[in-house]
Amino acid sequence: AQTLTEFDTIAAISTPIGEGGISIVRMSGEESVKIANRLFKGKDLTKAASHTINYGHIVDPKTGEMIDEVMVSVLLAPKTATREDMIEINCHGGIVVTNRILQLLLANGARMAEPGEFTKRAFVNGRIDLTQAEAVMDIVRAKTDKARDVAAKQMAGGLMQKIKDLRQEILNTLANVEVNIDYPEYDADTVTAKEMADTSKRVISEIDALLKTANEGKILRNGLATAIVGRPNVGKSSLLNYLTQSDKAIVTDVAGTTRDTLEEFVSVNGVPLELIDTAGIHQTDDKVEKIGVERSKKALKRADLVLLLLDSSQELTSEDQELLQATADKKRIIVLNKTDLGMKITPQELADQTASPVIAVSVLEKQHMEQLEQTIKDLFFSGIENSNEQVMVTNQRQTGLLAKAKGQLEEVISAVDNGIPVDIAQIDFTGAWDTLGEITGDSAPDELITQLFSQFCLGK
Ligand code: GDP
Ligand code: ZN
Repeated sequence: AQTLTEFDTIAAISTPIGEGGISIVRMSGEESVKIANRLFKGKDLTKAASHTINYGHIVDPKTGEMIDEVMVSVLLAPKTATREDMIEINCHGGIVVTNRILQLLLANGARMAEPGEFTKRAFVNGRIDLTQAEAVMDIVRAKTDKARDVAAKQMAGGLMQKIKDLRQEILNTLANVEVNIDYPEYDADTVTAKEMADTSKRVISEIDALLKTANEGKILRNGLATAIVGRPNVGKSSLLNYLTQSDKAIVTDVAGTTRDTLEEFVSVNGVPLELIDTAGIHQTDDKVEKIGVERSKKALKRADLVLLLLDSSQELTSEDQELLQATADKKRIIVLNKTDLGMKITPQELADQTASPVIAVSVLEKQHMEQLEQTIKDLFFSGIENSNEQVMVTNQRQTGLLAKAKGQLEEVISAVDNGIPVDIAQIDFTGAWDTLGEITGDSAPDELITQLFSQFCLGK
């Protein structure tokens, strides 16, 4: 529960800067309606009902100059995004006109909002918790429909409620501990110690269940980190090009083609892939073979999925063998490319050697590519079987805090096991309660909150 603080009125452009049909300039704070009314020629906005949209013109009050024809939404607290009075000015979508309106708001009493400040106010005013605020950012940044779905669930408060429940459980036990400490006449220590340890065990198992979703949550949010590896000339660039379906990925026999970007996001049948080190794919082409392998190994480290390319028209080389070995413990698909040239290695031969799916394709002739895509999709969904759960952990901050709380609860259990006095064990127990509170923001330090919201885009 946050105390309602008095805030100044903030303003920002909430739509992308550029030419468009409309732009929206937003204000939040007590003075919003008054400030808008100073610039608005139409009806008296201070008398407008909440949640109405009002037609009129924005006029510079100093010069009388008409700036634009607009629709102004009046949204009065508390049923607004920030729980404060809000104004949304829909104006024509041009850089100059949008900026003029923003400048007029600033000249008439509003302050320029910081990135994420609207969402921050929703948090500080108690409309959403930190996990929901993070979900707002995730939904804006979602690159695939699946990622959007996960964010939408988190925005609905699933994770928040789960964490609140766990905290409540700890709190109930803490209350009993306090009572018992006050009445030392019955064997309080033993009873309370056992209760604390039992609660710790229960909460730990819930935390474990949440942590289990973390890897999937990461994959859903960021995509499967995918490395395309293989010795030079097997068709890595061609495959990359096919996956990105754009001419940005340069395929050429000529050495020296490089790219700036290191990562690229693609959606293969709705499956988000983050292609790792796509620049490396090209740079290795014209270097000594060894470098190609070394670089591949680096990209491999953070890969969730490996697409290992082999040239099926040639016998396996020692380099191929090396890569087969280096990727053996990864989730991988072995792609036998260039089937159109006649096959010297068959899928069967390889399938005998490995548990990984082996797909024979011709990237050049676009043969069996849908089979490759389907296999990627199957692997993806087999890796995210929990993704329909309402509650998932999606980012490092949440994962880190859950792990910390778990550690504190384990300390409680071991303290109780070792007969350490209850009031000592209680310190970690309370600590876990605090740590969980940081996830939702109930007990998060100010700096953290400021830092978190600063990652938002302007006007959000
Ligand atoms: P990389 O060095 O692994 O990135 O390989 P590239 O994608 O640059 O391909 C090397 C050469 O093989 C190019 O000339 C491609 O056109 C060619 N190539 C790629 N895939 C196929 C294929 O399926 N069949 C045939 N015949 N050639 C291919
Ligand atoms: Zn290449």
